[in-house]
Amino acid sequence: GEQTASNFIHNIIEKDLENQTYGNRVYTRFPPEPNGYLHIGHAKSICLNFSTAQKYNGKCNLRFDDTNPVKEDTEYVESIEADVKWLGFQWDKLLFASDYFDKMYECAVALIQKGKAYVCDLTAEEMKQHRGTLTEPGKESPYRTRSVQENLELFESMKQGQFKDGEKVLRAKIDMSSPNINMRDPVIYRIAHAEHHNTGDKWCIYPMYDYAHPIEDAIEGITHSICTLEFEDHRPLYDWVLKELEWEQPPQQIEFARLNLTNMVMSKRYLKALVDDGNVDGWDDPRMPTIAGLRRRGFTPEAIRDFCERIGVSKANSMVDIALLEHCIREDLKDKVESRMVVMNPLKVVITNYPEDVTEEVDIENSKEDEAKGIRKVPFSRELYVERDDFMEIPEKKYFRLFPGNEVRFKGAYFITCQDVVKDDDGNVTELRCTYDPETRSGSGFDGRKVKGTIHWVDAKTAVKIKIRSYGYLMIEDEKGENILNPDSLKEFEAYGEPALLHTAAGTRYQFFRHGYYIADEALTNDSDKVFNQIVDLKSSWKK
Ligand code: ATP
Ligand code: MG
Ligand code: MG
Repeated sequence: GEQTASNFIHNIIEKDLENQTYGNRVYTRFPPEPNGYLHIGHAKSICLNFSTAQKYNGKCNLRFDDTNPVKEDTEYVESIEADVKWLGFQWDKLLFASDYFDKMYECAVALIQKGKAYVCDLTAEEMKQHRGTLTEPGKESPYRTRSVQENLELFESMKQGQFKDGEKVLRAKIDMSSPNINMRDPVIYRIAHAEHHNTGDKWCIYPMYDYAHPIEDAIEGITHSICTLEFEDHRPLYDWVLKELEWEQPPQQIEFARLNLTNMVMSKRYLKALVDDGNVDGWDDPRMPTIAGLRRRGFTPEAIRDFCERIGVSKANSMVDIALLEHCIREDLKDKVESRMVVMNPLKVVITNYPEDVTEEVDIENSKEDEAKGIRKVPFSRELYVERDDFMEIPEKKYFRLFPGNEVRFKGAYFITCQDVVKDDDGNVTELRCTYDPETRSGSGFDGRKVKGTIHWVDAKTAVKIKIRSYGYLMIEDEKGENILNPDSLKEFEAYGEPALLHTAAGTRYQFFRHGYYIADEALTNDSDKVFNQIVDLKSSWKK
């Protein structure tokens, strides 16, 4: 791939290296919460964190931010590891925030001892009323003046399980009149009598994200803690925690804009609902913007990394056109994969002057882009299928394909002239009667005349039936311009392919000549069934 583009984060790092803020260390982390599968937005963060570490000879950890026991699951942990590896990255250490629960507890005790944290009995509702608004300062909790001793005892009792969920919390003692609401004595520990996927029932108090995250980063020696823009207002709290804990060389939080993509939704919660409600066929449904979905759809890690590189990193939220992602996969596949002929919507062609009972083999190149991929033999005989779209009884202007009296090239074979049209009683075209010119065989050097159209075909006798799954976007706009789930995002149908496709292994990608890129579905392709997912069509609507 290309060299990592320089961005504002790299500028910050280069300044830090110059000033030796962290010596020569550059240490990043990718910190997903294991509450769902990763999506293409996470890929942006993964590429940024791992390639930034690579660029500066540093390291990057994979850390599961598993401080919320209820929504997390080992299925998600495993899928996240697989996805990061598949994208082509190797973490330095694999870590869990929950491994630091003891340390986080000690830190909380240290804050209490400094008079910087207190146990508060206000209900969630009361706390909300005390918090104030953007224009109004908050009110101090009546429990704010508890003694250090009382706070230590109560916090210990919280840990021992003497209180019910929500009965008490531990709050940082900062400033109820801060203009930044995040600094108005935020909750740093809450009670949750819940089984944790990693620590089981050892804990019934859990640290809040804003308190836990800086400690996790600091313990690991992270230098640059890269996160998304919605955490910008939380940065003062991040810094406060590390300052009060007197951490030396504390990590710094740097925010960048999330990736948003047209025709997609980038929220684990929404994606989980699609899975749970059966609107898609699991997290790896090829229509999903998840890494697992994109992988099954046939996207490559190279294309996704290229995409993340091209969209760059900025401080301003924006919407990226999904056409760019499609452009990246086309660019990656165009000289990687072989071409095959498939007829999706068949119309029979009979070559009336071609002998019956003869099948010849014609040579067709496997790739237009890469001669080294060689040629293959494709059977050709008197009866063939072509696409219905490649015929018009009354041609439009500039239509160079089949119509009565017109001659076209059948890819890799002969010039063929449409002579007659056969129709059923309802007037539907059922067959074309054509003739071929034996002189015009491909590769014979024939140059007596030229034709304007080349179309693909398959031999009727030897054609194999394959299944095609063709996709629309997951999200579309309704009349009011609102994003809705596309009710028509999957089309499944049978198609005719050249016989070699019978031997396709699951996971093989092809260009289906004149159609687009396809992959033999990993789960549904086996010895008898060949099921192809459409990766992307051939044409790009994206303008450079
Ligand atoms: P979601 O709302 O989809 O659950 P999240 O931010 O809660 O996303 P996390 O598991 O916390 O998901 O994300 C791990 C990392 O990936 C975080 O650093 C987060 O900022 C980053 N990330 C998540 N979504 C995007 C996105 N759309 N673009 C860029 N980075 C993202
Ligand atoms: Mg998160
Ligand atoms: Mg989330």
